[in-house]
Amino acid sequence: MSHDIVFRNATIYDGTGAPGAVGDLAVSGGRIAEIGAVSGRGAEVVDAAGLALAPGFIDVHTHDDFAAIVHRDMAFKTAGGVTTCIVGNCGMGAAPQAAAMVLARSFHPHASFPEWEGYAGYLDVLDRAPPATNIAVLIGHGTVRMAAMGRKTEAPNAAEMAVMKDMVREGLDAGAIGMSTGLIYEPGRHARTEELIELTSLLKGTGALYATHMRDEGLGLLGSVDEAIRIGREAGVGVQISHHKASGREAWGLVTRSLERIDAAQRLGLDVHADQYPYTAGSTVLSAVAEGGRLGGAGRGLGSLTPDNVVIASTAGHPEWEGQSIAALMAAFGAGLDATLQRVLGEEPGATVVLHSMSEDDVRTVMRHPSTMIGSDGLPTLAGKPHPRLYGTFARVLGRYARDLGVLSLPDAIYRMTGFPAAKFGLNDRGVIAPGAFADLVLFDPETIIDRGTFEDPKQPPEGVRMVLVNGQLVIRDGVATDARPGMALRRG
Ligand SMILES: [Zn+2]
Repeated sequence: MSHDIVFRNATIYDGTGAPGAVGDLAVSGGRIAEIGAVSGRGAEVVDAAGLALAPGFIDVHTHDDFAAIVHRDMAFKTAGGVTTCIVGNCGMGAAPQAAAMVLARSFHPHASFPEWEGYAGYLDVLDRAPPATNIAVLIGHGTVRMAAMGRKTEAPNAAEMAVMKDMVREGLDAGAIGMSTGLIYEPGRHARTEELIELTSLLKGTGALYATHMRDEGLGLLGSVDEAIRIGREAGVGVQISHHKASGREAWGLVTRSLERIDAAQRLGLDVHADQYPYTAGSTVLSAVAEGGRLGGAGRGLGSLTPDNVVIASTAGHPEWEGQSIAALMAAFGAGLDATLQRVLGEEPGATVVLHSMSEDDVRTVMRHPSTMIGSDGLPTLAGKPHPRLYGTFARVLGRYARDLGVLSLPDAIYRMTGFPAAKFGLNDRGVIAPGAFADLVLFDPETIIDRGTFEDPKQPPEGVRMVLVNGQLVIRDGVATDARPGMALRRG
């Protein structure tokens, strides 16, 4: 029998957390055909001795909804071994399109987009012009609320709730794998818990889950975890806590107690997990940081931020501001905080920032916890100085946290980016190396894999990733992106 590609003598990590085992692996017709001692030949044979072969990484927390259309090579992800991106996080979804385009233009100010109708239309766009990675979608509650209610801060009336429910049902029918909220952002932060329970209840029995950027990741962290768990319990739906962290110095250490809350919920039989990116800095849009006087220390949600620890990442037309802290811009403008924020947001409403707000101890505590999987939360602005997590998340977990620091074993680290998220998000036949599974694969050198991006120079592909296959086709060869665009738009079930 002749295969498309055969890997010889690889150390195979199957994505279940099991230790690596040396063997061959054959790929045929987009699927894994044989594992072990492969007898047949391959159109291409790869000597993989000394290298690790794992399921392709599943990035459970992305904002690549629009990058998948305008940067179809997705090289910023595939070069780090990512083969599937879950989009629509933090309440920001791809439909309805008119509401979604606010974020699309903020991340991709110079791009033009096709038109689509609902989540079905968005997935059709991906079917017609696939990106290099697979894409699975979450319905964005904030986008739905904006489309139904604009910037209203009240609870929805019956008619508005009916419109939101229709939009959520449309997304579920189209194959969305869950619904996300962004409860620090406009307009999601105006939603009461009851609104979220009512909408999340539509997911019950479908296998779709509730993913949340919680209301408060600072001193209010524990109350926010309680709210997320309550929504899942009352709606009868699994919960994914996004980018689990304690933000702001006064909140450091609270993750020990928030993780205990997750343990307690699991003991009650609830399906509650979290994801994390492996850095002590976060990143978001400047408008969210400036809202409600948060940067002045008066607000809640992001923890205490100061003009020193907030740094401009990407802008549409002010490269000279990128990499500068708000404090530095205040000095340059000879202006106070409010005037500086007004000027920057007036000229750059979509500016993104990096927030240096977490403790390294907390990052390791969250990573060790068995409820945690890996998600980059990268903002695919590609211009300026985006947070290096966009490129380096998975290699950094494998190289720095697993190999160099021993926070996780290598099989466990791989499990948290493959088999674990595939099971949680219901991605069938992915995330594991097994006969018949889709051939989403990454071949890397466990001795050298490491992220290379820094906050000053973030746009660096990781080191040590040799080959990446999506649905059996090579998207990365010797660390370089190919012309293949074999990604699939994944529908639930
Ligand atoms: Zn978020």
